[in-house]
Amino acid sequence: MASDLDQLFELLRFPSISTDSRRAGDVRACAGWLDAKCREFGLDSGLHETAMHPVVVARNEHREGLPTVLIYGHYDVQPVDPLELWDSDPFEPVVRDGRIWARGATDNKGQHFAHLLGVGKAMAEDGGLPVNLTLILEGEEEIGSPNLRPFLEQNRDFLACDVIAVSDTGMVAPGVPTMGYGLRGIACCEVVVRGPARDLHSGLFGGAVANPATAVARLTASLHEPDGRVAVEGFYDDVRPLEAWEREMWAKVPGVADGDFLEVTGSLALFGEPGYTAAEQTWARPTAEVNGIGGGYQGEGSKTVIPAQAMAKYSFRLVPDQDPADIMQKVRRHLERHAPPGVTVEVIGGHDGRPYIADPHSRFGKAAQGALRKAFDREPVLIREGGSIPIIEDFREVLGADTLLLGLALADAQIHSPNENFPVANFEAGIRLNRALLRELAGA
Ligand SMILES: [Zn+2]
Repeated sequence: MASDLDQLFELLRFPSISTDSRRAGDVRACAGWLDAKCREFGLDSGLHETAMHPVVVARNEHREGLPTVLIYGHYDVQPVDPLELWDSDPFEPVVRDGRIWARGATDNKGQHFAHLLGVGKAMAEDGGLPVNLTLILEGEEEIGSPNLRPFLEQNRDFLACDVIAVSDTGMVAPGVPTMGYGLRGIACCEVVVRGPARDLHSGLFGGAVANPATAVARLTASLHEPDGRVAVEGFYDDVRPLEAWEREMWAKVPGVADGDFLEVTGSLALFGEPGYTAAEQTWARPTAEVNGIGGGYQGEGSKTVIPAQAMAKYSFRLVPDQDPADIMQKVRRHLERHAPPGVTVEVIGGHDGRPYIADPHSRFGKAAQGALRKAFDREPVLIREGGSIPIIEDFREVLGADTLLLGLALADAQIHSPNENFPVANFEAGIRLNRALLRELAGA
């Protein structure tokens, strides 16, 4: 039998880039390899077709009276360019300085395969699992999981579960077991401002017509108060306030002090909604961000022109109980109200996802903390995450179950970037975590 690491290396060698249609065969081959591995471990496994990449679903024999645990992961990966910035081949994994270097090492093959190995070991050593297990591995996470929600809806009974476990989030610091119980939601849009029928000479016409680039700058500036608060009317109406125990708890979490944020970001100073620490701002407060802005001449030297149109892309990170559709409506109304005269404003809605929060002190939450304590031999910290994983809220809506976010990713894992890596120690801890988790959940 190949070593744990050798097996992970086999999985990492598949260039399963979901966004690249030329890689569709590799994505499918990767799914096939995982399906075969699940069978080798004694699970009942199959490939399920979707409109694009297949979903692997594996189960043990479910028995009456045991809790049903669904473990989710994704076997697709991000593209690897720019290739020249990698120190080694992204699809030929190597261990260097105690880390595994390869695309997908952390996001997400290393993390879900640690779970699968934990399951395989329990099957071999204990003759079975202490819970009913359903393992879902999808191949479209990196492109927004377009076919997963329909798949869940079509297989609601087959996938019914009591609790879900996902290792696809971060650890606050090396060796510090971290459980997430919240995620921010998201709402995106693009704004196109149009003025004159064509680009105009800024000398012949400047001063007499509205300039769309100025209008976009004004609209963008109107999104915030000078102190950093979001100025969209009604934006904070549904925001659930931070609770005292969360603020107390987060103040003690290592690696997320304001000074750490300053260092990690390389920013000159922190800036944001007053009255909150950086961790609170990113985990539990909503934001408006400008992701891109443009219009007019961008080439060398000057070109004296009034652009016919200009644009900006905005994203809003949302917290419970904000609703993305409601926020987008408020944003539209705000932009219309603040549109300067002489231009038209078109708002094009983009992708969105609802925020997520669960009770970390539920019986399953406590069981997961027990498992983290055992796997890392240290008290776990409880956090929310600033990022968005819309599928987690879909799980709750379709399957009616909460998700335990048991991340094994470090801040410098370089996910989505060149030189992605995963510490061997985290891989091994992930295997221990899975075994402890299934035992703890069985007793919860
Ligand atoms: Zn990713």
